[in-house]
Amino acid sequence: MDYELTETQQMIVDLARRIAEEKIKPVRAHYDESEEFPWPVVDEIRKADLFGVYIPEHYGGLGGGNLEQALVAEGLSHACAGIALCAAASGLCGLPILLFSTAQQRQRYMPDLAAGKRLGAFSLTEPEAGSDATSIRCSARLDGDSYVLNGVKNFCSGAEVADVYVIFATVNPARGARGVTAFIVEKGTPGFSFGKKEVKLGIRSNPTYELHFKDCRIPKANLLYKEGYGLHVAQVTFDNSRTGVAGQALGIAQGALDETLAYTRVRKQFGQTIASFQAIGHMLADCGTAVEAARALLYSTTRAMDKALKPAVDKAVADGTVIFDEMRALDVRRWTKESAMCKVFCSDVAMRVTTDCVQMCGGIGYMRDFPVEKYMRDAKITQIYEGTNQIQRNEIAMMMVKEAASKAKM
Ligand SMILES: Cc1cc2nc3c(=O)[nH]c(=O)nc-3n(C[C@H](O)[C@H](O)[C@H](O)COP(=O)(O)OP(=O)(O)OC[C@H]3O[C@@H](n4cnc5c(N)ncnc54)[C@H](O)[C@@H]3O)c2cc1C
Repeated sequence: MDYELTETQQMIVDLARRIAEEKIKPVRAHYDESEEFPWPVVDEIRKADLFGVYIPEHYGGLGGGNLEQALVAEGLSHACAGIALCAAASGLCGLPILLFSTAQQRQRYMPDLAAGKRLGAFSLTEPEAGSDATSIRCSARLDGDSYVLNGVKNFCSGAEVADVYVIFATVNPARGARGVTAFIVEKGTPGFSFGKKEVKLGIRSNPTYELHFKDCRIPKANLLYKEGYGLHVAQVTFDNSRTGVAGQALGIAQGALDETLAYTRVRKQFGQTIASFQAIGHMLADCGTAVEAARALLYSTTRAMDKALKPAVDKAVADGTVIFDEMRALDVRRWTKESAMCKVFCSDVAMRVTTDCVQMCGGIGYMRDFPVEKYMRDAKITQIYEGTNQIQRNEIAMMMVKEAASKAKM
């Protein structure tokens, strides 16, 4: 299907798919098995300038938005979602910095994140604060010109290898949601260390760590936006980043389906290819239809989001102001419902399609030396992180009811 991508967007698709085919496919099983960080592939992603597709040109990025970011995630995840996450996790750190930082903070962090010279990570989750981010306990106490951080964060993607972290801590636990605040913390800051490395079902080449803060002193200038606005920072970030998870899910689904098509066309039983059995053909048809529907939803939503966001980004970059403030001044609406819909739909499609692909391939589909089972293991995380699909459905339903109520009032 022709989605009328621009020349630059098509170039991104081609680059990501080329890296996926030539650089990722030959090594994906190795990195999945060894759980090593895939530095040589990350270098290829850097060289192709794919870290900064969503970052304004002023900071060395490509000046794209959510659609471009989703295209990178999709293209790389077509081969391996774990390796694709090495770029996406860094983007999840760059996005809140881009949207909420001052011009000085943007200048300090965005060029290196755009070039992939420094990697980023984002840490909201804690052992007792998962879906309920209002119960964050990691604390930040203002002391002179510094904040002093104490506490534990967990499940941080891309940690340890990352140099820059967006961390959420509370400046006042008694204030609940209104105490949560976002900070930028650099690796190597005394009092900041890495705890347990998780052993996972999927996306195994991307490290997931616990973060420890013990009297970790960071400059006051590393406050991201304002005290008490942390959950806002996280939510607006997720409005934009969940479409990246959707892109990752879409790449996983398409990758599994392509491997399955190739296999079912040549595997013969009862004297004919298994693709010629109607039972398999119908599964292929359902998978292909679901993937195309997911792609249509994702591309059209991100295109509309980017169009709405661009004037605020351009104005903030030109005037040296905060993008989020310009979004409010220009009345740019939030895309919470639509980005949640993309994430739910694409990730559910990925889980269903990859499970069906293992089924269509039979016994070989279950084996580690055949690529399809890995897609199924990798698909699962897209239904869990950046807010589980249950939480997304809560949000979508709440917004639908709210919209219906306000229409009824008119
Ligand atoms: C591999 C991996 C990487 C991750 N990377 C990051 C990262 O980089 N940064 C980061 O900050 N976090 C990260 N996370 C954390 C992730 O976002 C959380 O795991 C997720 O939000 C769910 O939180 P939880 O695990 O505490 O589950 P819980 O909140 O304990 O939820 C458990 C179950 O209860 C359901 N549930 C909870 N509340 C409700 C409700 N109100 N209504 C209906 N159902 C509900 C959930 O849907 C889920 O099924 C990562 C997680 C994993 C597994």
